[in-house]
Amino acid sequence: MNFARTVPLLGALFVAIFAGAGCRTEAVGGPIKAVSTTGMVHDLVVEIGGGRVASQALMGPGVDPHLYRATASDVARLESADLVFYNGLELEGRMAEIFAQLPATGKTVVAVAERVPVDKRLAYPGQTGKHDPHVWFDPALWRYAAEAVRDALSARDPEGAPGYGERCAKFVARLDELDAWAKSELARVPEPSRVLVTAHDAFGYFGRRYGYRVLGIQGTSTATEASANTLIRLADEVAKLRIKAVFVESSVPTGTVDALKKAVRSRGWEVGLGPALFSDAMGPAGDETGTYIGMFRHNVTSIVEALR
Ligand SMILES: [Zn+2]
Repeated sequence: MNFARTVPLLGALFVAIFAGAGCRTEAVGGPIKAVSTTGMVHDLVVEIGGGRVASQALMGPGVDPHLYRATASDVARLESADLVFYNGLELEGRMAEIFAQLPATGKTVVAVAERVPVDKRLAYPGQTGKHDPHVWFDPALWRYAAEAVRDALSARDPEGAPGYGERCAKFVARLDELDAWAKSELARVPEPSRVLVTAHDAFGYFGRRYGYRVLGIQGTSTATEASANTLIRLADEVAKLRIKAVFVESSVPTGTVDALKKAVRSRGWEVGLGPALFSDAMGPAGDETGTYIGMFRHNVTSIVEALR
């Protein structure tokens, strides 16, 4: 092992040793090795890489990327990969140091969400110059991430470029179909009921795309706690608007949503609990929700059923 290459990673490894076990997926596919952080990014690599790329995700179902710290075995996996894909825009806030050091080891490292043009991004509330990282909730923006994966794979493996191009075009066409379907489904909810109350502010892009107001109990990152003021303001609003349901998320503890329900009850309105939405992590492999398109469809169906 190259010493110069090993030293910068020691700090990261030190952090990783104390971080507990990850929840990664098994690698599938061909000879080019890619490691991704979230399931959504891994799904892009599987779709576009086809049989040429062995893709693996560090974060499995239920794992919160805002809080995730890489484990020692994650660092080893990142080290041995040809390409590393992550969301970026500070979604994986506790892995920044590791990503900063990886390009020095000669591999391709790509933050796929940072391919989204700046003028199409949502601002990160209260933080000048930062952007909301949850871009996968707008299929029209997720195509930029797909193209970032296509371009990185093509540069690394020029022989496979035509295939990457073809599969990317097919995936983008499916994103367009998904978007059109979601638009018509979500329009079935009467306009005053188009309010999405979730555990944290992951659905900003979704709300902008489909004309829903989005109210998160926690902020844009789960690393910030819900304030009592926010909870009171939200409870007032949910009771006043007689919102039918609020939603928990598969990767966020349910405590804040339970507290909100209680506060709404004390204001004389019983708000229901919608099915768990997949926000920052997908469902298990093999399940419909274990793919990007499947989890998106699940969310749309759940929202329409709960709010109609
Ligand atoms: Zn989030």
